[in-house]
Amino acid sequence: MLKGFIRSIKKTKTSQKKSKTAPLIIPRAEHTISRSAINRNALKVLYRLHEAGFKAYLVGGCVRDLLLGQTPKDFDIATNALPEEIRRLFRNCRLIGKRFRLAHILFGHDIIEVATFRTSHENAKESHGKSHHGMIVRDNVYGTIEDDAVRRDFRINALYYNIADYSIVDYVGGMQDIKDKVLHMIGDPEKRFHEDPVRLLRAVRFLAKLNINVTPETEGPLKNLNHLLDNVSPARLFQEVLKIFQGGATLATINLLQKYHLMKKLFIYSNAGEALVNIALANTDQRIGEGKTVSPAFLFTVILWNSVSEHVLSYEAEGMQTYLAIEKALQHVIKQQTERLTIPRLMQLSIREICVLQHRFTYRRGGHPYRLLEHPRFRAGYDLLLLRAASGEPVQEMADWWQEFHVAAPEQREKMLKDMNQKPSPNKRRKSRKPRKKKNTEVVT
Ligand code: ATP
Ligand code: MG
Repeated sequence: MLKGFIRSIKKTKTSQKKSKTAPLIIPRAEHTISRSAINRNALKVLYRLHEAGFKAYLVGGCVRDLLLGQTPKDFDIATNALPEEIRRLFRNCRLIGKRFRLAHILFGHDIIEVATFRTSHENAKESHGKSHHGMIVRDNVYGTIEDDAVRRDFRINALYYNIADYSIVDYVGGMQDIKDKVLHMIGDPEKRFHEDPVRLLRAVRFLAKLNINVTPETEGPLKNLNHLLDNVSPARLFQEVLKIFQGGATLATINLLQKYHLMKKLFIYSNAGEALVNIALANTDQRIGEGKTVSPAFLFTVILWNSVSEHVLSYEAEGMQTYLAIEKALQHVIKQQTERLTIPRLMQLSIREICVLQHRFTYRRGGHPYRLLEHPRFRAGYDLLLLRAASGEPVQEMADWWQEFHVAAPEQREKMLKDMNQKPSPNKRRKSRKPRKKKNTEVVT
C-alpha cells in the first residue's frame, strides 16, 4: 500500500511530466539494427521489463555503434522502472551506486546495466549540485525519457532502441548526425564542457574511434578549454586514459589529444618521443584489432620513455652513474605523472621495471642475460627495446642481439656470450689517462 503510494508520488514528479518535444521515431524498416546483433542477455532484460509493463530501451554507445556498423563494447538499458522495481523483476540483480542507483543484472561474467531515466540538475532546479567551476557534482534525480536524452553528452550517444516496436527514438537529432558522421554536443557545447570537462576527452576518443568529424560548434570550445582538465580528479582521468588505451584507436586519439592541446594535461610527455609513440601505438591498435590484449603499463612506459631518457641524460651529465640516474629520473617523472593521473602502485612498479630493463639489456656477459630472460617483465622490456630501435634510437645492434639470444638454442647462446666477452665491455668506465693524485692519507715512513 505504502510502496504503491510512494511510487505514485514519484511518478507524478517524474515520468508524468509532459514531453516538451515530439521525438523523431525511426521505424524498424528504416534503420539497420537487427535483433541478431544485440546481446542475448540484453534482449532478455529488455523483454522482461517490457512484459512487466515498463518502457525499455537500449541506449547510448551500443545503439550508436550498431548504427555505425561497429561492435558495441557493452549494452546499456534505460527504463522508467525504478531500481527497486527492477530488482523485484530479476533474481540475478544487484543495485549499485550511491550518487545514482543503477541495476546490474548478472549473467555469469556478462553484466547488463539498467538505469532508470534521469534528469539533469538544471531540470531538477538544484543549482547546488554544481561546484564553483560549473561542474556537476551530483547526478541523482529521476526524469522522463526526454530528460534522460538531453542530459547525455553527444547527439549520437542519445538514441534509444525501443523493444516495444524495434524503432529508434531520437529527441536530439542524433540520427542525422549518424548519417552525416559528425559529433555534435547536445545543448551549448561550451557550457556542457564546463559542466563535465571529461567530455573533452570523450569527444576526442569518439572522433578517433568512430573516424567521424566534429561540427564547428563543438570543435570551437574543444580547441580552447584544455585548462578545464585541471579541475578533474586524477582518478577519473586515469579511468579515461584506460578507455583510450583499450579503444583500438589509440594512435588516432593521441594525435587528436595533441591537436587539441590535451596531451600535456594528461601525460608528462616530451614531443621528442613522438617517433617511438607513433610506432608503438600503431602496433598496439593492430594488436587490439586482432583481439589481443595490451598492457596499460607498457603504453604508459612508451609515452613517458622520452621524458625519463632526457632526465637520465641530464643526471649523467652531472656525473651520476647510469643506474642511479635512471632511478632518480623514474622517481621524478612518475611522481609528476601520478599528480595528474592516479596510476595504481602495481602499474607504477611495472613502468619502473620496464625502464630499468632498458639499462640492464646493455649487460650481456656471464649469467646476466640468462637472469634477464627469467625476469617477469622481460617480454615488455624487450618489446620496448625493439620499438626504440625501430624509432631510430641507437640501440639496433643490442636489439638484434637480444632478438637472436632469446630464441637461440643453448649452444648458440653460449657462443654469443663468448663472442661478447671478447669485445671490450661498454659498461666499464674508461680509465682516466691522468695519473692519480697521491692520497694525502698515505702513511709516510
Ligand atoms: P564506449 O564505447 O566507450 O562505451 P559509450 O558512449 O557507451 O562509449 P559510456 O561511458 O559507456 O560511453 O557511457 C554510456 C552513455 O552514457 C553515453 O553514450 C552517453 O549517452 C552517457 N554518458 C557517459 N558519460 C557521459 C558524460 N560525461 N556526460 C554526459 N553523458 C554521458
Ligand atoms: Mg558504453
